[in-house]
Amino acid sequence: MDAEPGRSRQGILLVISAPSGTGKTTLINRLRAEFPRLAFSVSYTTRRPRAGERNGREYHFVEPETFIGLRSADELAEWAEVHGNFYGTSRPAVQAMLDQGRDVLFDIDVQGSRQLRQAFTQGAFVFLFPPSMRILQQRLRGRGTESEESLVKRLANARQELEQAEFFDYWIVNDDLESAYRDLRCVYQAEGLRKSCNAGLVEQVLAD
Ligand code: ADP
Ligand code: 5GP
Repeated sequence: MDAEPGRSRQGILLVISAPSGTGKTTLINRLRAEFPRLAFSVSYTTRRPRAGERNGREYHFVEPETFIGLRSADELAEWAEVHGNFYGTSRPAVQAMLDQGRDVLFDIDVQGSRQLRQAFTQGAFVFLFPPSMRILQQRLRGRGTESEESLVKRLANARQELEQAEFFDYWIVNDDLESAYRDLRCVYQAEGLRKSCNAGLVEQVLAD
């Protein structure tokens, strides 16, 4: 969302977390298509690209040694081992986007969300729920991207992730896609109305 001319605006950190297969990517892509000013934090990962994924777009795909180097150099605002691979957020990239007054969207796991809250002390943390474990399994299978081993691991981790939903500020159930999208859009728009995002408004109104 744009600031009024002459008014400073602090960028929003919109963090989305959910068990694998819930529909994060689907909802995030829609939000980015509707709000092009919303920047996406492209994470580093050591997992292999899926068909259709491009380096630098969905992820920066790196070797484990590179990831460890980034971690040692304190280049990561948060990192975690998820489903057997490393994932992490670039601190300088996020800081640069925030410095430009942009809103930044994150698709990260529960462990990463907790670290990010500490690193940036602000942000809206959204947890997406699948309607049920049965439907989660159907979606993950239906996506056709995971080996049986990876699928079993992701479903086992889903239970642990759901148990940590309490950490998050907003809960959205992704049952009907349209309705879940409306909810997510609502959260994003409400966050932009926070007084912390609109410094200088009082002075602007009084000055004219
Ligand atoms: P995630 O990024 O959370 O792992 P995806 O966005 O890849 O999940 O979605 C997993 C699968 O579920 C995809 O095939 C997607 O098309 C499908 N999907 C997402 N949301 C819904 C929904 N509300 N109803 C039915 N299928 C959905
Ligand atoms: P996938 O392999 O399906 O793309 O992602 C697996 C999990 O890793 C998802 O829960 C996703 O949110 C999480 N993830 C992606 N990027 C990051 C990141 O930079 N940090 C953390 N902690 N988790 C991430």
